[in-house]
Amino acid sequence: MRLFEYQGKDLFSQYGIRIPTSYVAESLEEARKSASKLGYPVVLKSQLSVGGRGKAGAILKCNNEGELVGKFSYLLTKAVNGELPRGILVEEMVEIKKEFYLSLFLDRTKRSYSLLVSTEGGIEIEKAGNKTILNVPIDGISNQDAEDIGLQLGMSGNLLISFEDFAIKLSKLMVEKEAELAEVNPAALLNDGSLIALDAKVIIDDNSLFRHPELRKFQHVSELEAQAEKSGFTLVELEGDIAIIGNGAGLVMSTLDMVSEAGGKAGAFLDFGGSATTQTIYEAIKVISKIKRIEAVVVNLFGGIVKTNLVAQAIVDAYKNNLINVPVFARISGAESDKAKDLLMGSQAKLFDNIEDAITSAVDTVKGN
Ligand code: GDP
Ligand code: MN
Repeated sequence: MRLFEYQGKDLFSQYGIRIPTSYVAESLEEARKSASKLGYPVVLKSQLSVGGRGKAGAILKCNNEGELVGKFSYLLTKAVNGELPRGILVEEMVEIKKEFYLSLFLDRTKRSYSLLVSTEGGIEIEKAGNKTILNVPIDGISNQDAEDIGLQLGMSGNLLISFEDFAIKLSKLMVEKEAELAEVNPAALLNDGSLIALDAKVIIDDNSLFRHPELRKFQHVSELEAQAEKSGFTLVELEGDIAIIGNGAGLVMSTLDMVSEAGGKAGAFLDFGGSATTQTIYEAIKVISKIKRIEAVVVNLFGGIVKTNLVAQAIVDAYKNNLINVPVFARISGAESDKAKDLLMGSQAKLFDNIEDAITSAVDTVKGN
């Protein structure tokens, strides 16, 4: 999940990383109010999930309310790479002495983080000079490492102290929130010698999101997710092609982890909560059927009171009514499992005695093995 700039900055400020004061505005009225609280000049920044806003002209400075009116309306309807903004950040204009680039990213092959810093910020990092990279252990950067890298880049005095503090706070955020990337470009040096994050790009690992209920407010709720909620389900859409259906958040989450450990990519997870009936399972499949990228469904049901033949009936009905045409891999523990197996015989669904086998089959099928 890539956070919007304003969300990334929200996290930064929770970790004590300095950011300019700003407000998200979705209407001209809100923008006006925000700007008068901040005082002119202000900077307007389109909130997009794509990069390169500056180049695309989606960051505009306003010296007075007259300028704000025109520029705000322009930005609100201006698409960048086909994407319309999710609000406009109205931000205090700060005076910059110098711009730096700073990022921490997860290197999965090394099972560690890398810290990338350049004394040339505000431009694409590929084009920046005087940069250095440091391997950071998975539990975060040490004071010594932060100091060393600052010294390597020729920092001293207040800047060095500020840089160390900045890098350590960013690293703490990274570790605690299980981020894949935290990029600050630019980190701006102010006249008082301290660093401030002018921009924020934070990517949180989707597979660890369930450990962070505090980050849920940053999740964009799709129409389908909202619809599922109305039916009493919890649906989270992801990017992969395997859907996971189960009863109970813990069960569904651990299934999700197992799917990724088995080399699969979850495309959705759906928790239909407490009780499973033919009707609720059928509804759950109906929701999943609307996600076109799904190529296999893993059903993980647990509970002594769940009559598995009722669940099997829902799956059979879903095939009969052409609701789905992808294979279902089900592990259902509970009463009447013999009846369930008989029902599913000859359908595109397969019943398994344990979830590991169900997942392995699903992953193999999706990969075409
Ligand atoms: P990006 O193009 O999406 O990376 O947008 P940024 O938020 O990084 O802003 C791009 C550039 O706009 C920065 O590198 C700065 O040069 C400039 N900028 C943004 N905010 C301010 C500000 O408050 N004051 C000044 N002087 N420049 C700013
Ligand atoms: Mn930037």
